[in-house]
Amino acid sequence: MRWSKFIAVIKAQQGEEGDFSGLDWNEKCEILRSNPVTVMCMFEKRVDALMTDLILSPAQPIGPVEDYLFRVEFQARGSPHIHMVVWIEDAPGVQDPEDCPDVIEFIDHYITCQMPDEKADPELHKIVSEVQVHSRNHSKTCRKGNVSCRFGFPRLPMEKTIIASAPWKDDEDAGGNKKCGEKAKDVVQEKECRKKDSKKSKKSKKFVGKKQREAKEKLKPVRDFLMDANASFEDLSDLLEKCKMTHDEYQECVKSLTSGMVVMMTREPKDCWVNGYNPDLLRAWNTNMDIQFILDEFSCIMYMISYVAKPEHEMTEFLNSVIRDVKKSNVSERDEMKQIMQA
Ligand SMILES: [Zn+2]
Repeated sequence: MRWSKFIAVIKAQQGEEGDFSGLDWNEKCEILRSNPVTVMCMFEKRVDALMTDLILSPAQPIGPVEDYLFRVEFQARGSPHIHMVVWIEDAPGVQDPEDCPDVIEFIDHYITCQMPDEKADPELHKIVSEVQVHSRNHSKTCRKGNVSCRFGFPRLPMEKTIIASAPWKDDEDAGGNKKCGEKAKDVVQEKECRKKDSKKSKKSKKFVGKKQREAKEKLKPVRDFLMDANASFEDLSDLLEKCKMTHDEYQECVKSLTSGMVVMMTREPKDCWVNGYNPDLLRAWNTNMDIQFILDEFSCIMYMISYVAKPEHEMTEFLNSVIRDVKKSNVSERDEMKQIMQA
């Protein structure tokens, strides 16, 4: 929608030239729908240019790329978007979340969630305002899974980027799954170890659940302030003062909310609705992005299974049913194909 060339090219194919920026969203949709093949060709070119001319270029906007994997997905069978995992050469790993300055530095170097200054960088400020700010009204997809916003907006402010991990991890109550993983030399051994610990694990889940509920309750005033469109704060200290909370209490609560490790980006209260982005990529791509540093192998595999290699059962079933229906009707192969494409 933001890529005006798409509209201009399709219109030119249809013999119309001019300025189409004044068209509304529905009109633009209609034009894009009139030629999905051109839309896809142009989208592919754009992805190709993003990779070749930027991500893999000597400019290295996200560092020297070792490998990458991406997949194009169609939201609601319409807008294409990509899910991508990029491996960066010599990227640091987290050994101890409490003490990993190289990881923090790496994340801060490539990712930000701060609203750029309007005067210093009006172009980026405009793009971030238009595509990286999560709607205060949320959307239908936010409420999937019985939570108010599964993307975690408004996100909690932080003075400095941290890798938050539950503070009771080493407590006896915490189950010991991590220790299992550390001790185990292979998957079978780890499985055995986990079995032995399953009782302990149940107890631990209850304990963690209780701690998380307590932390959520304590953080409620902070969230209420962040949700209030009329409230404004100079910085985190100002916000915490209004919530009668110390920095230490706040940090403890934030850590208690996590069940694994989570990156909490440097964020001022005013940026609590801004999603993480890389300034160079955002400027070039000019539409929304969600860029994250993957903390461990498990999260990487989960991401790849959930997004990059997600099977599209529903789509397969839907297309099969369309093919079955079309085959039943008496039409030529050409019309058959057309009907499938337009389904
Ligand atoms: Zn939301």
